[in-house]
Amino acid sequence: MRAEHPKLEAGLAALGIDVRSGTSLSELTSLGIGGTTDLLRITKHDSIPELIGLLEHHDIPYKFLGGGSNLLVGDGELPWVILQLAKPDPEIVLEGNFAHVDAAADLGRTVTFCAKHDLGGMEGLIGVPGTVGGALRMNAGAYGMQIGSYVRKVKLYRAAERKIEILSGEQISFEYRHTSFGPDDMMLAVTLELPSKPFKEILQGIRICNEKRRSSQPLGQKSAGCIFKNPPGASAGRMIDELGLKGLSVGDAKVSDRHANFFVNAGQASAKDMLALISDVRGRVENAFGVKLENEVVVWNA
Ligand SMILES: Cc1cc2nc3c(=O)[nH]c(=O)nc-3n(C[C@H](O)[C@H](O)[C@H](O)COP(=O)(O)OP(=O)(O)OC[C@H]3O[C@@H](n4cnc5c(N)ncnc54)[C@H](O)[C@@H]3O)c2cc1C
Repeated sequence: MRAEHPKLEAGLAALGIDVRSGTSLSELTSLGIGGTTDLLRITKHDSIPELIGLLEHHDIPYKFLGGGSNLLVGDGELPWVILQLAKPDPEIVLEGNFAHVDAAADLGRTVTFCAKHDLGGMEGLIGVPGTVGGALRMNAGAYGMQIGSYVRKVKLYRAAERKIEILSGEQISFEYRHTSFGPDDMMLAVTLELPSKPFKEILQGIRICNEKRRSSQPLGQKSAGCIFKNPPGASAGRMIDELGLKGLSVGDAKVSDRHANFFVNAGQASAKDMLALISDVRGRVENAFGVKLENEVVVWNA
């Protein structure tokens, strides 16, 4: 999809939108898969309601990209433009135990920045790639913690109201890889309340989590983390492993030899390959265990 109409181009320029034509999503996603479209980078939160109005006026569908680490994007020319927040400076402002963080901030850098200021709690999130906005949307978590537990306020673009609002933590429900945000809401900034902890102690926790990841995940390979959510009381990875499916492949899309719930792009995998592998594994697990696995990875397919 191209944002090419002269009036649209003038409107985007007036809103300070940086348009990157013909961007390949394979370069913006950790799986290294995805076709081509125009990328619209947002420099001012306040421009979003007008930007959305402009796109709708020109019948241009859009999707919202964070760091691209939980996405499987379709092949070829994509039928929507991509919106992404540009990083402001500074990305994080601390005020006592509160961290005010822009949604475009890198999650890992946020964890370490807060740690250096003796604010802990998020050690488990070290090694989760992507942005703070993506982590909020997915309620990212690991090793018994989730980001939602620390959220006190979220600034977001409410698609249903067509305006920017601030929600308090109590107004949002955070569940396992699920939140109560609307499907088209855009996270713009968050206030986290973090417990005080000495840096040395946080660092120790970070090292333990890093070690756990290194020993169990295919970190050097292109993936989107876990493909499936764990069903209640069970482990998707364990079920796939028990069926002997590690190493199973369709083209260059492959079930990791290291972690059965990580599917990797071992070369030039297409979205078609990866979707076929996901469907094959889901079918086999359902036949063997009677459990239909739900995607954790977000699929953008035309
Ligand atoms: C090696 C590896 C390890 C991983 N380990 C974990 C883990 O331990 N725990 C875990 O939870 N996840 C894990 N993940 C998955 C992924 O990193 C997280 O889900 C991450 O929070 C996604 O953030 P992102 O910015 O990359 O989002 P994207 O992949 O860009 O987007 C994911 C979804 O969030 C939406 N989104 C992104 N930003 C915003 C925003 N600002 N406002 C509204 N919607 C938005 C997108 O539209 C899309 O629907 C892992 C991934 C990899 C590659």
